[in-house]
Amino acid sequence: MQDANSGKPTAKKRKQRRDLRAMSHGQLLELLGDLGQPGFRAKQIEEWVWEKNVSSFDDMSNLPKSLRAHLSQACSLGGPREVGRQQSSDGSRKYLLRYEDGVSVECVGMPTRNKLAVCASTQAGCAMSCAFCATGAAGLTRSLTAGEIYEQVMHARDDFNARVTSVVLMGQGEPFMNYDATLGALRRLNSPEGAGIGARHLTVSTCGIIPMIKRFAGEPEQFTLAVSLHSAVQRTRDMLMPGVRKYSLLHLYEIMEEYVDKTGRRPTYEYALIKGVNDSEDEMGALCDFCRGNLAHVNLIRLNDVKDSPFQPSSDRRAEEFVRRLGAVGVDATIRNSRGSDIDAACGQLRQEMERLSR
Ligand code: SAH
Repeated sequence: MQDANSGKPTAKKRKQRRDLRAMSHGQLLELLGDLGQPGFRAKQIEEWVWEKNVSSFDDMSNLPKSLRAHLSQACSLGGPREVGRQQSSDGSRKYLLRYEDGVSVECVGMPTRNKLAVCASTQAGCAMSCAFCATGAAGLTRSLTAGEIYEQVMHARDDFNARVTSVVLMGQGEPFMNYDATLGALRRLNSPEGAGIGARHLTVSTCGIIPMIKRFAGEPEQFTLAVSLHSAVQRTRDMLMPGVRKYSLLHLYEIMEEYVDKTGRRPTYEYALIKGVNDSEDEMGALCDFCRGNLAHVNLIRLNDVKDSPFQPSSDRRAEEFVRRLGAVGVDATIRNSRGSDIDAACGQLRQEMERLSR
């Protein structure tokens, strides 16, 4: 799928309207007050927007016609437009969604049995520059609002016409560099007035922004945390993940201990095995040391091909050896192999994790 951030911004007039999905409940009440409307209309409107995901004010059949007209002048409701899709023979669908200002992101819906897992993006592009990542190469375009993150999930829901059972924020972007919008989206996804998905089935994946992991540990909901580790050797991790160089592995280790103590929840560590880079005996030993003695699940990811990348995936045998060695020190590990999938491989890693989390 091509990057479509080159899309032209839409007409000026549309941009001046307020994005209704970016408004808080209080702001909506204020707007309705200005229009001389009673407060209960806010709840009605929110139901149309967040539960029913309508794309036009005309569909809000329990609102007076005049209010619908006022709202459509004052606010936009558009939601993203699908400008591309890829469909896999295994049933997953990857969408390219474009927002009003022309910026676009990817989102994946993956049905398994009676479940539907969705992988959504939190930013258009990413500033973290991980050496093996396709998104990292292009840099950050902009962060998404909570509404924009949420809408991706609703897009998949409506396209599959099925209830979404889990969401992973593992698409483009670093969620913890866009913390408030990420939390806003998670809360909306969790809320019975929104998508109504259980907090444990909502997962955030971070490259390890320590102050935000600390903050996340203090949130009242039981959201799930995944941390992209990719190496437990400082020098290797600095090379693979330059965006988090300033947070040492020792510091990450300490904060994750604190996270587990505080929440009692088991974090996942993502580890894409790269031949000759992070799959040596030393690397394996360091990973075992990092994970042992604390709650941890390791997700060994098959490295996806990225155009012009110097990195190669490790062999399957090497991955199995990692699982065995981690198991020997009491750490659960799983390998997910996305080979055979006909959908663009760039999102294979998302699929694997979604499969695990939606089980
Ligand atoms: N910024 C967040 C979430 C987005 S990426 C994070 O870093 O966790 C989701 C996962 O895919 C991360 O673990 C990321 O490191 C991994 N990933 C990125 N490019 C990959 C590739 N080419 N092959 C395998 N995994 C990759």
